[in-house]
Amino acid sequence: MPMKKKTATRKVKRVVLQAKPKAPRITYATLAVTPQDDEAYDAAVANVRGQLGKHFTNFINGEACPATSGEMAHASPVDTRLIVSYFPRGTREDTRAAIKAARDAYKNWSAMDYRARIKVLRKAADLIVERRFDLSAWMAFEVGKTRAESLAEVNEAAELIRYYCERMEFHKGFTLPLEAPGKGQETVSVLRPYGVWAVIAPWNFPMALATGMSAGALVAGNTVVFKPSSDSPVLGYEIYRALADAGLPPGAYNLVVGPGAQVGDELQNNPGVDGLVFTGSKEVGMQVYHQFAKNYPKPAIAEMGGKNPAIVTASADLDEAAEGVMRAAFGFDGQKCSACSRVYVDNTVKEKFLDLLVEYTQNRVMVGDPSRKETFMGPVINQGAVDTYARAADQARRDGGKFLYGGNLLKEGEFEHGYFVEPAIVELPSAHSLFQEELFVPFLVVAGVDSFDEALKLANDNEYGLCAGIYSRQANELQAFLDNIEAGVTYVNRRAGATTGAWPGVNSFGGWKGSGSTGKSGLGPYYVQQFMREQSRWVVKPGR
Ligand code: NAD
Repeated sequence: MPMKKKTATRKVKRVVLQAKPKAPRITYATLAVTPQDDEAYDAAVANVRGQLGKHFTNFINGEACPATSGEMAHASPVDTRLIVSYFPRGTREDTRAAIKAARDAYKNWSAMDYRARIKVLRKAADLIVERRFDLSAWMAFEVGKTRAESLAEVNEAAELIRYYCERMEFHKGFTLPLEAPGKGQETVSVLRPYGVWAVIAPWNFPMALATGMSAGALVAGNTVVFKPSSDSPVLGYEIYRALADAGLPPGAYNLVVGPGAQVGDELQNNPGVDGLVFTGSKEVGMQVYHQFAKNYPKPAIAEMGGKNPAIVTASADLDEAAEGVMRAAFGFDGQKCSACSRVYVDNTVKEKFLDLLVEYTQNRVMVGDPSRKETFMGPVINQGAVDTYARAADQARRDGGKFLYGGNLLKEGEFEHGYFVEPAIVELPSAHSLFQEELFVPFLVVAGVDSFDEALKLANDNEYGLCAGIYSRQANELQAFLDNIEAGVTYVNRRAGATTGAWPGVNSFGGWKGSGSTGKSGLGPYYVQQFMREQSRWVVKPGR
C-alpha cells in the first residue's frame, strides 16, 4: 500500500533553531553553485596554485613556532609532483608548550561572559565565509575535494560555529535556576568548562569537523590544542588564522601539526589535558578512548568510522533510490564517514535498481581534476587508499563478485601522477567480508535479499552504527526501520543522498556502536554540553 507521507514517522513538534536562509545556500544536499561562485572559485584556484609549496609554522601562545625537528612535505593527491605545503614536524616538546599555553590562557577565556566569547567566534565564522573560495581551492589541492563539496564544507564550518553559539545563547550560558529550597536561599545548576581540550581531526572534512570540534570546546569556555591531520595541515592553519584574526586571545587556541605517534600521543597522555575530542578511524579512536583517562574519568568524545547501509525494498521509488545511493556512495570518492558502502535490495526489484544505479553512475560520476566544475569524483587521498581499493577489487574478483561498474585504477593521461580510481559497484553474497570492513574508497557492494526483515537484520549486522538509509513506500516498513535500525543518523527516501548530507541544526550527526563514544551527535542540540561539567550551587544569602 502506498505510504501517506504523514504516517511515516510519529508526529513530533518541530523546533526551528535557525533562521531560514534567504537564498539557496551551498549544502551537501543542494550543491547549488552559482555562476558567480564559479568565477570566484576559478580565480581562487589560480591564486592558490601560485602559493603552493609555501613553508608554514605551528602556532603556540599566539606565536609562530618554526620547525625544530624537520619539516613534512604534503604532496597533492591530484598530482603528486605538486608539493602543497611544508609544515614543521611537531614534537612532544611543542605539544607540551601548547598545553601550557592553553592552561595559562584558560583562566581569562573561561571567565569571559559567554556573550563575549560568542562575539569572537561569530567573527571567525564571518571570516571563514569571506575566505570561502580560497579555502575551497586549498581543499582541492590538499585533499582532492571537488568544487561544490568544498564550498559546501566551508559553509558548514561557519554554520557549525554559528549553531553552537546559538545553542549557548538559547540556554543562556547554561545557567539554570532550580527550585528555591527556602526563603533567602537559591539553588542553581551551572555548566562550566573543563579546562584544556585536545582536538584531533581527520583529513576528510578538514574544515568542517575540525572547526566544529574546536567551536564546541571554545564556546563552552575551554581552551584548545588542535592537531589537524598531516594530510590537511593548510586547512588546519586556516582555522587557526580565522580564530586568531577574529580576536581569540593568544594561547586560547594552539596549532600543532605533527605525527599522531608524537603529537597525538602526548595529547592523550599529558595530565594537563582535561578533555579530548577525536574524529577519525575506529582503530585510532578506540586506542585514544582507552588511553586517555587514567587516574580518574575524563571526557573523551570519539567519533569514528562507518559502514553505512542502504535498504531498497520492493515498494521503493527505484529512480530515487538509485540516485540517492549513487550520490552517497561516490560523493568525495566514498571518503565520507557517512558514505553508503553496502546496499541490500529486494530480489524482485534488484535488476531494475542495479540498471538505474549503473546508469546514474555512468552519466554523473565524472572522474578528474577536482577543481573542474564538471568533476564528480577527484582522486582518493593517498597511495594507501589506492592499495585498499585494489585489494578490495582483487578480493571481490577472486570470490566471484560480479562487477557492474568500475573496479580499476586510473593511470593514463591526466590521471598519471594522481591517485585516481573508478567508482566500483560489485554484487556479492551478503555474507562476504566486504560487507563488514570500512574501506573508505569508492567501492560499493550490493546483495539481493528476499524480505525487508532480512535486509534490516543484515543492515544491523555490523560493528559500526553511523548512518543508514531506506527506500520504501510502506509506512510499516519505514517505522520498523526507524525503530530498529542501529544507527545514529537515519534517512528515509532521500534522493540527495541515501546516507549522507547532514547539516548543522538541521540533521544531527553522530554514531552508535563502533562509530561513536557518547551518543550525543555533532551538528546537534546536545553537542556543546559535552564540553562542560555541571556545578550545583546552593547559596544561603547573607543577611537573609
Ligand atoms: P585516522 O584515525 O587515521 O586519523 C585521525 C586523526 O588521528 C589524525 O589527526 C591523525 O594524525 C591522528 N592520529 C593518528 N594516530 C594517532 C595516535 N596514535 N594518537 C593520537 N592521534 C593519532 O583517520 P583519518 O584517516 O584521518 O580519517 C578517516 C577516518 O575518520 C574514517 O574511518 C572515517 O570514517 C572517520 N571519520 C569519522 C567521522 C564521524 O563523524 N564519525 C567523520 C569523518 C571521518
